[in-house]
Amino acid sequence: MSSTPLKIDSTRASALVSQLQGVQERILAVAKGRPVRLVAVSKLKPANDILALHQAPQVKQVHFGENYAQELQQKAELLPRTIKWHFIGGLQSTHCKPLAKISNLFAVSSLDSLKKAQTLNRVRGELIASSSTPENQIEKLNVHVQVNTSGEESKSGCSPGQETVDLCKAIVNECPHLKLLGLMTIGAIARSKATTPENENEDFVVLREQRELVEKELGLEEGSLELSMGMSEDFEGAIVMGSSEVRVGSTIFWGEGEQE
Ligand SMILES: *Cc1c(COP(=O)(O)O)cnc(C)c1O
Repeated sequence: MSSTPLKIDSTRASALVSQLQGVQERILAVAKGRPVRLVAVSKLKPANDILALHQAPQVKQVHFGENYAQELQQKAELLPRTIKWHFIGGLQSTHCKPLAKISNLFAVSSLDSLKKAQTLNRVRGELIASSSTPENQIEKLNVHVQVNTSGEESKSGCSPGQETVDLCKAIVNECPHLKLLGLMTIGAIARSKATTPENENEDFVVLREQRELVEKELGLEEGSLELSMGMSEDFEGAIVMGSSEVRVGSTIFWGEGEQE
């Protein structure tokens, strides 16, 4: 990517801002005062779209989600450090090292194996140890354990039950440089399309049950773990069912930005 300053087209910027504000309003309308984190999913969108939303005084969007490790790395280098990045795509073992080195990577939300957790933990630990001054103090890396709630073979994630509990337990007990934020699911598309605030999505039911199970098995306070569930099609229904974080892409980023 170029090192020249990113150009922001004002027409595009105001379209993005109003689309994001529309999503924020819809979240507020169903959240009943509960805090819900909005991750703006910017995969395959140009860096200047992200910058426009991050800089706009009306929204100052901080949390952005990406699906491809290399794309996230490139954007993180180019864009302000005040952005908090979320890796939400399929996590390969080879991604863990470069991702954990990104100091403003806020969370990996697709963690599905102990081996990957150990790599993230080790590399994050090295990064924390190398940042000795208080000004550039690196935080622990937040993680969500991805649960394959729909049982579809094409979906990654831990199976509900023992596999999910065991991974959560290992993160808490053996990975001091990671913080277990909670559980994440993507869910089946058909269920997602059928979700309305009145019609409960089965994937979200399963994820909520898994949180209860993990909290009980690990002796954690009820509701202390987050649920990352809900995308453009179904985020309102997800919030009604207790989602703490929604990942919304196409509803915010539709329309064409000017590619750099
Ligand atoms: C793309 C993606 C999203 C956002 O999906 P939209 O339907 O565009 O809102 C959320 N979560 C994950 C894991 C994704 O890959």
